[in-house]
Amino acid sequence: MTKVIYPGQTIGIIGGGQLGRMMAIAAKEAGFKIAVLEPTMDSPCGQVADIRIVAPYDDEAALEELAEVSDVITYEFENIDYEGLKRLSQIAYVPQGAELVKITQDRILEKTELQAADVPIAKFVEASTFEELEQRIDEVGFPCVVKTSRGGYDGKGQQTIRSKEELILAQSLFEHSACIAEAFVSFTKEISVIVQRNGEGQTYCLPIGENIHVNHILHETIVPARIDTTLAEKAIEAANRIANHLNLVGTLAVEMFVLDEEEILINELAPRPHNSGHYSIEACNISQFHQHIRAVCGWPLREPKLWTETVMVNVLGQHIISLTNSMTKYPNWSVHLYGKSEAKTNRKMGHVTILSTNIEQTLEEIEQSKIWS
Ligand code: AMP
Repeated sequence: MTKVIYPGQTIGIIGGGQLGRMMAIAAKEAGFKIAVLEPTMDSPCGQVADIRIVAPYDDEAALEELAEVSDVITYEFENIDYEGLKRLSQIAYVPQGAELVKITQDRILEKTELQAADVPIAKFVEASTFEELEQRIDEVGFPCVVKTSRGGYDGKGQQTIRSKEELILAQSLFEHSACIAEAFVSFTKEISVIVQRNGEGQTYCLPIGENIHVNHILHETIVPARIDTTLAEKAIEAANRIANHLNLVGTLAVEMFVLDEEEILINELAPRPHNSGHYSIEACNISQFHQHIRAVCGWPLREPKLWTETVMVNVLGQHIISLTNSMTKYPNWSVHLYGKSEAKTNRKMGHVTILSTNIEQTLEEIEQSKIWS
């Protein structure tokens, strides 16, 4: 049953990272209180929360404490303990449920659901052992990408395989979990559609982002994605279809490959606000974080509109010093830093959003700043 949660009540967030922080900031604007469960003391979300519960995500007593102080509970990342979340949903109000977390934690389950939703995906086979992979690999052929079914992110837990001789490179992946081997996709672009849905089934997608990765980590999102309208419609239709199939409540980021012949393939899902949707804070009439809060609090959703073209660039640990040295030169840049103290290489420390009237010029401005080169 959909419940309406009002300002003054407390939203519990599992996970204290930047996504939780931006959710919390959005919720606090309306006067909600925030409780966060996170194992580290000084987390990005903990810094802006009203109540901090510092414990592992599967700590029973901590989950009970979160249930006690929260009127509704959401999560900001998918690698939380499924069984713990399921138990939590019996003693607290968790409108998103636990099933989506279970599905998106496991590529095999996720692909099975995508097939059931009847959306296009790359050809794949699953294998529980390396020997099984060797036997089945011809069903996919080469080149292919072998991915662990569980626990991979930002290109970790995957290996591109170009020939039968190279297959051995994938053997160690089986130490982590079962794997899938997926046909290598010669995509022309990567895009993402962030779809958000409330308990009443009201569903909206944010404008489509075009994502540029560097070393498998998101570097830039350009909005709107530079694709034609027919393809954009296909992408939105696929995202809506997945959201309805999964009975989504909250946020689902749908990552897609764009193929030459104006087709899309769904790559993967994330059941939470997504890095490629950060641009919406400045560039839309509703951000992905505000909309997420509305969805989990049982409020009607707002139809998203893009004010203007925009580019979002990620700030990793190695970019912090040069960004700090030159950020005051750029009055049009909206700088977001997540309050992480240690600027490790490749750690997401923040992002910059630039509202643009000319994407090419904005990309050139980013290049010229030399912060990311
Ligand atoms: P994933 O963790 O599945 O999102 O993969 C991370 C990145 O690896 C994607 O954003 C793509 O750039 C690349 N990638 C993943 N799967 C494939 C594939 N089947 N073919 C080509 N590139 C891929």
